[in-house]
Amino acid sequence: MLRHRYLAVAVVAVAVLLMVRGASVWGVLVAAAAAYLIIAIGLTMLGSLASPVPEPPAHGELRKVRLTYQCPVCGAEVRMTAAPAEDPEPPRHCLDEMRLVSNPYDD
Ligand SMILES: [Zn+2]
Repeated sequence: MLRHRYLAVAVVAVAVLLMVRGASVWGVLVAAAAAYLIIAIGLTMLGSLASPVPEPPAHGELRKVRLTYQCPVCGAEVRMTAAPAEDPEPPRHCLDEMRLVSNPYDD
């Protein structure tokens, strides 16, 4: 029902406080409704920007791969032995994508 329940409680509390202090009832109701709408829309927009990190695949779902990548900047090499796909995205090193190289240690 109310997605931002804590916000509704806070708005109602402030509205009650303002009415107790003698503010106009209709003015307080209109201001409370407007405040709730504006803040709820803002929170929903902020929430849509956050994308959750995907769960790592289960242990049995990883494929066995033998891929060797080399950093084009510093020459470091990395061997990938398990990946979620047969042709995974290359890792990054020195702020650049590593390139797939033939593996001299393979048979
Ligand atoms: Zn590097």
